[in-house]
Amino acid sequence: MSTLTHPLNMKIVALEEHFVIPELVGYGASTAATQTPAAWQKMVGLLSDFLEKRIPEMDKGGLDMQVLSLNSPGIQAESDRQVAISNSMLVNDFLMSLIAQHPGRFAGWAALPLQDPKAAADELERTVTQFGFCGALINGHCQGKYLDHPDFDVVWERAAALDVPIYLHPAPAVDVAHVYQGHEELVGPIWSWGVDTGTQAMRIILGKVFDRHPTAKLILGHMGELLPYSLWRMDSRWERDNRHGIELGLGRPSDYVRRNIYITTSGVASAQPLLCALLAMGADHILIGTDYPFEGISVATEFLRGAPISEIDKAKIAHQNAERILHLKC
Ligand code: ZN
Repeated sequence: MSTLTHPLNMKIVALEEHFVIPELVGYGASTAATQTPAAWQKMVGLLSDFLEKRIPEMDKGGLDMQVLSLNSPGIQAESDRQVAISNSMLVNDFLMSLIAQHPGRFAGWAALPLQDPKAAADELERTVTQFGFCGALINGHCQGKYLDHPDFDVVWERAAALDVPIYLHPAPAVDVAHVYQGHEELVGPIWSWGVDTGTQAMRIILGKVFDRHPTAKLILGHMGELLPYSLWRMDSRWERDNRHGIELGLGRPSDYVRRNIYITTSGVASAQPLLCALLAMGADHILIGTDYPFEGISVATEFLRGAPISEIDKAKIAHQNAERILHLKC
């Protein structure tokens, strides 16, 4: 297996690395609306490229491997169930052949047709067992349904049985909340995506997905989508204000965050939130992501190499946790 050895000699495997194929560029329309047209055109060029700019950028930043995912919202933007199934297979087959041509540089997250939960579970199993994919990456909601919906139990069950994580990535919301009216610039990665995705993670916890599937693993990007900063208050008010009488069988809300949730550094190259996440979640639950091409690769890798944390924790975040959780043989 050909892996790059960076001068600083720390292997790095990044988990939030996006791409697109020409047939599915149109699914990105709602994400395009959060950017200027010129910026989006540039992004589509970078998302579609693998060899000309991406691998040289990886080499420059000392990034050994990208775990690739179809850009948000991906297949979930499809309203036709049958088309969602066939396009999932199309993009997953493409990704499999790309990985086969560049072993050691690329790995993959499956795109799933959640429009048909049973088909999604089957596609997860096909891509994990036959292609060696690392799990699946889901973008926000699927046609207005969130991952705590009982219909998706079949997907969680299959993911837990295969021992692969589900990566929950942001996507444009179903609607624009009243609070953003007059300030639509806040809609997107700048603010609303983090709130929405952290909220969906809380739905998954309080919807008792992890009570039903105790070994399921959920990965959140962007340094945990605001959750690590919020654990104490979430428990304190849960104990006092649980007015709907929800009974969590496996502890307080924060216990689920610490046990079932893993986070990546994607799109955040800043020591303050990393140190918070380390204290809140522990180094075994943090992995690196770059959010390429929406952020630069070197920004993420240089940040981690220079972060004010121990070399032991750095190695866990850079590659050891990925090797363990994604069953990667680097
Ligand atoms: Zn991303």
